[in-house]
Order: sequence, then structure tokens, then C-alpha cells
Amino acid sequence: MSGGLVTAAYIVAAILFIFSLAGLSKHETSKQGNIFGVVGMAIALIATIFGPDSSNVGWIIVAMVIGGAIGVYLAKKVEMTEMPELVAVLHSFVGLAAVLVGFNSFIEHQPGSMEHVMENIHLTEVFLGIFIGAVTFTGSIVAFGKLRGTISSKPLMLPSRHKLNLAALVVSFLLMVWFVNTGSTSVQVMCVLLMTIIALAFGWHLVASIGGADMPVVVSMLNSYSGWAAAAAGFMLSNDLLIVTGALVGSSGAILSYIMCKAMNRSFFSVIAGGFGTDGSSTGEDQEMGEYRETTAEEVAEQLKGSSSVIITPGYGMAVAQAQYPVAEITAKLRAMGVKVRFGIHPVAGRLPGHMNVLLAEAKVPYDIVLEMDEINDDFADTDTVLVIGANDTVNPAAMEDPRSPIAGMPVLEVWKAQNVIVFKRSMNTGYAGVQNPLFFKDNTQMLFGDAKASVEAILRAL
Ligand code: NDP
Repeated sequence: MSGGLVTAAYIVAAILFIFSLAGLSKHETSKQGNIFGVVGMAIALIATIFGPDSSNVGWIIVAMVIGGAIGVYLAKKVEMTEMPELVAVLHSFVGLAAVLVGFNSFIEHQPGSMEHVMENIHLTEVFLGIFIGAVTFTGSIVAFGKLRGTISSKPLMLPSRHKLNLAALVVSFLLMVWFVNTGSTSVQVMCVLLMTIIALAFGWHLVASIGGADMPVVVSMLNSYSGWAAAAAGFMLSNDLLIVTGALVGSSGAILSYIMCKAMNRSFFSVIAGGFGTDGSSTGEDQEMGEYRETTAEEVAEQLKGSSSVIITPGYGMAVAQAQYPVAEITAKLRAMGVKVRFGIHPVAGRLPGHMNVLLAEAKVPYDIVLEMDEINDDFADTDTVLVIGANDTVNPAAMEDPRSPIAGMPVLEVWKAQNVIVFKRSMNTGYAGVQNPLFFKDNTQMLFGDAKASVEAILRAL
């Protein structure tokens, strides 16, 4: 394939990626957006592999077949609830790839083979690429562990943690200046190895010190970092498409982080500096909450029959129980009975941005009754019954009522304003943020204990 053809293919792929992002931003067009992305990536791969800069195509294809087979196997095996972990671990691969590309570019580079200025630019690219890649690599591994539950979701609170972060950045910067300006290869090797160790520790610490309800920002932030790591690899390899694609992922991840921060009423810098809402805060565990009331599936069915408007607020528990299918059936049944049913989706419900929307779309719930928190929050007061299906932190009134709560200030779905609230969960355990929920003890709340899928199916039968 000639260089001109490769450039043309890259432009087409870049445009398809932009269409893909545009498509993915709306439910109705998300499938189409996905297809644009797949086609764009196929074109990009073919053009790169068969382009003039590639050699040993046989080896590339062998590696792709092995990698692709592992990818297909894992993607088929992974449960919907494990998706956030999968995304986190995939980000770590992008980081690792950028580190390896960086080392490779450094080893391959012949000192003196370029003009002085170009050589400095190249060395800076290599250094920054390895740094961003290493931060993304370990940060994503910690996020993977936190989402999987193998690492505690509590923030790590090292003394002088902000100073440690600052020191890591300053020392890395000084190493970069030395790396670029020294003529000695052995000094360069030392600088790059030292920086890699610092960056690995920095990435680890950065994510370890963020915890609880702030994790959504971490996930989107690492998404962004993985994009910048790919863009850095693009600079090192002089691959324009990788630069464009990395920048698209990096900036869309940054926008997502901003949206997540806004949804949680946090400032981006406070979250990435770590440890929000951890000092002297109360998880409510020690407070006397009062009594809670239990109900049965039959009683809930009766109550639903007598309601004229119902709002369903799903959360992570719906994903665990895979309750979206019976939830969709109950919705259809109630709508057929003339009940107005809508869904209220909190921006950080579940464990991934858009998690609930994906589940409801999978179960074919009509898009027009699935509303964002801001669109529905004022309507709870005029609602007869709210079904809180496996949600906890996202419906916690402590966020508004208790300034000492770790989730204080986070906007939540104000479900307690409805006439009746039914909470579907298995026990009185807390949600991801580990905070007790006063909603469960309110006079208009009843608990329906059990697996959410079994409970919804029981209500469906009773209806
Ligand atoms: P929560 O994690 O607050 O609560 C989920 C609830 O579901 C639990 O209280 C649990 O209670 C219940 N549950 C679990 N399994 C089942 C089951 N099989 N049947 C019935 N209930 C079940 O969920 P939310 O969606 O309200 O909040 C999301 C939280 O996750 C927020 O704190 C958010 O910050 C965080 N987060 C979000 C991310 C995102 O991008 N969206 C990423 C990372 C974290 P029990 O055990 O008693 O059944």
C-alpha cells in the first residue's frame, strides 16, 4: 500500500471515529456509532499493517490472531457486572503499550541521527510517553482491583500525600530536563528507569488515594489518560492516526470526567488530588436510624395497581441481579394497565458511566421513558410509588441532609419525596461508598428484601 493511500485511509478512519463518538452520545444512534468505530478501526489496522512503515507482517498477524482470540474469549465470558473491571484493565494495556513503545523508541534511536532540535523533541516525546503510560498502567490496575473488590475501595491516606504527588512530578520533570540535555546514554538510561519507577508509584498512589463514591471520576479519568498515552505513542511512532485517535479518546474522557464531577458536585482537582470527604466524616454507621418496615411482593403489586404514576430508580443491584428483563416486563404491564411509568437515572448509578442506560436498552425499555436525574427530580413529589431497584448511594438523602457524610453535596434522586418508596435489596448493607442510608428508615419507605430479579418476578406474577 502506498504512503498516499495510507494517508487517505487514515483520514477516512479519523472521520469515522468522530462519527462514532457523535453516534455514541445518544441512545438512538449508539449502535450506529459503534459500527462506525468498528469500521474505522478495521480501516486503520489494514492501512497500518500493509502500509510502507510496517515489516514482518506475518508476525503481526500471528500476534493479532492470538490477541484477538483471547479478546473474543474474554469478551464473551465477561458478565455485564464485570464490564467496569474489564474497561479498567483494558486501559492498563494501553498504558503498558505506551511504556513499551517508549522504551523501544529510545533503544532504536541513534544519537546524532537527527537535527539537534528534532532530537530534543523526540527525546521529550519518549520521556512523556513513558511517564503517561506508566501512570495509566498502575492507576488502571488499582482501579481494576477497587472495582473488583480485591483492593479496598477506601481511599489510601498517606501522610503528606499531596506533597508526595508534587515531589513525584517535580523530580520527573527535572529528570526529563537531564535526559534531554545529557549526551551520555548511560545517564539517559538511568533517568528513564528512575522516572518509570516514580511514574508507576505515582499512578498507583493517585488512584489508591481516591475512593468510595468518587470512583466514577477515576474511571473516566483513566479513560482520558489512556487516550493521551495512545497519542504519546502516536508521536513516538510518527503515526498521525494514533495521535488523532488518542486525542479523541483523551479529550472525550476529560469531558466525561467533567460531567461526572458535575454530577457529583465535586471539583475535578479535588477529586484527583485524592481523599475527598474522608477526614472527620461520618458514614452514619454509628448513628441511631430507627426502625425500618418490610413488605412483600404481593403488597407491592397491590400498591402498584393503585398507583397512577410510578418512577423506577435502578442502581448497581439491578445489574448484579440481571433484573432488567423482568423490570422491562413489569414496565410494559403497568403501562398497559394505564399507569404512567418512568425511569430516573443517576449519572453515577452502577459501576460505569451509562451502566443503567445500557441495561435498560438491552431489555428494550423505550428510550423516551428513561430520564436523567435533572429531568425527573422535580417530579417525585407528584409520584405515587417509587421502586428503588438495587440503588443505594444514588438515592441517599444524607448527601443533602448530613454535611459530615462522605457523599455530602452529591446531587441524588430525591425519591423520598414520593408518597411511597419500595427499596429492593438483599440486606441492610451499605452501597459502594460504605455510607448508611436514612432513606430506609423513613416513614414512607418499605424494604422488599431478596434478590432484585426474584422480587421483581414475584411482583410480576402477583400483578
Ligand atoms: P450502590 O453501590 O450504592 O448500591 C447497590 C445496592 O444494590 C447495594 O446496597 C446492595 O445491597 C444492592 N444489591 C446488590 N446486589 C443485589 C441483588 N442481587 N439484588 C438486590 N439488591 C442488590 O449502587 P448505586 O447504583 O446507587 O450507586 C453507585 C455507586 O457506585 C456510587 O457510590 C458511585 O459513586 C459508585 N461508582 C460508580 C461508578 C460509575 O461510573 N457509575 C464507577 C465506580 C463506582 P444488598 O447487598 O443489601 O443487596
